[in-house]
Amino acid sequence: MASEKKSKAKQLQDKLTFTFPSIGMEDPDRVKKAFEFCEPYKAFLNAAKTEREAVIEAERQLTEAGYSPFDPHAAYKPGDKVYFNNRGKAIIATTFGKKPLTEGVRINAAHIDCPRLDLKPTPLYEKNDIAYFKTHYYGGIRKYQWATIPLSLHGVIYKKNGDAVTVKIGEDPEDPVFYITDLLPHLAAKQNARKLGEGITGEELNIVVGSLPYPDKDIKEPVKLMVLSLLNEKYGITEADFYRAELELVAASPARDVGFDRSMIAAVGHDDRVCAFPALRAEIDCKKPALTTMTILVDKEEIGSVGNTGLDSDFVLHYFEYLAENAGVNVKDVLRASMCLSADVNAAFDPTFPDVYEINNSSRLGRGCVLSKYTGARGKGGSNDASAETMYKVIKIMDKNGVYWQAGELGKVDEGGGGTVAQYIAHMDIDVVDLGVPVLSMHAPIEVVSKLDVFEAYQAFCAFYK
Ligand code: MN
Ligand code: MN
Repeated sequence: MASEKKSKAKQLQDKLTFTFPSIGMEDPDRVKKAFEFCEPYKAFLNAAKTEREAVIEAERQLTEAGYSPFDPHAAYKPGDKVYFNNRGKAIIATTFGKKPLTEGVRINAAHIDCPRLDLKPTPLYEKNDIAYFKTHYYGGIRKYQWATIPLSLHGVIYKKNGDAVTVKIGEDPEDPVFYITDLLPHLAAKQNARKLGEGITGEELNIVVGSLPYPDKDIKEPVKLMVLSLLNEKYGITEADFYRAELELVAASPARDVGFDRSMIAAVGHDDRVCAFPALRAEIDCKKPALTTMTILVDKEEIGSVGNTGLDSDFVLHYFEYLAENAGVNVKDVLRASMCLSADVNAAFDPTFPDVYEINNSSRLGRGCVLSKYTGARGKGGSNDASAETMYKVIKIMDKNGVYWQAGELGKVDEGGGGTVAQYIAHMDIDVVDLGVPVLSMHAPIEVVSKLDVFEAYQAFCAFYK
């Protein structure tokens, strides 16, 4: 009697309640597929540590897949594939759909910049027999995490004559790396009493770049001169060329599997390559979409989507305008009918630090891509806050295509928060919602994701483009 009653209650419970499934439990066959998908993802991570490198790698993959540079004045037919490279720091790829543009465009938008240390305009100096670079950090970082790890230097320098020099030092195992020092525990009593946020300050993020003097006793700063002479030998540059440069430091480590089960990946810049790569693959893999696709990989998200390679610029709107003009339709009709997944990461629940999360509304590793109705801080400030209608449409697409997704928001109410590019897409009168991958240790020099969740982001972007 009691057990029969319990079973009825259990039935009712099954019918009425809902929790997001663990993919490994529900669908173990999917694990192998996710692992396979993540091998080229790791290669992408290693090839594309900066926004410039990500654009080069994306352009390479698009060209290889038959995409041609976008001609703003050409008429395109269904199945045509084009890309638009915006100043080498952002890229848009499109596959033309069977349906007219006025039925809307499907957009997956991810960012390819990530938190890092940039060189100051006058970076090189010598102090007490050591040569250093001064840095100014880019994006939200916890500064203490950047000391005592190997760093690599990436970027571009323009010489006076206009020649560009590409720099990438510290990624090849034979390369030297760069380094920020920290105090030894024996002498750190005072530093230990600082607040964690000031453990290492911005002006202490100084990069060790040399310690050998140029062997001439008449020289005042011989270690600095030695560095300059080596840079001149290798790149033909002088100190004045730093003013025409963009040089960025990131952790020098390649992407590595994490765990005995190899279920996770530790790497530089999952935020937001973990969405950019699956979006790019979904773009390339969709051959004959019903609606025209737009895969947007942008720069500058980490500092507020500023600049003309970030999404607060009109360059995406202008791309829309060209598409509409060439198809002889009104761009406003195209924008209003379009829908976008703002493809960015969310904070995965971290069992070591449970206090900042609200467990019922946090994304978990291994439960799929995370759909976030809203982001923002202090009462959803800076958020897009997708409508129930948009949620209905996106969830329908996910469910119809068997995508494992979960809901989640970034931490407890008033604990902190963060924004994405969603608001800039919404500004163009496009329906948009955030969908991405849960990340552990977000914005750390090395971040961690679950391979299962990366694969579901790809599934979601494919379903959206189908
Ligand atoms: Mn992001
Ligand atoms: Mn970020």
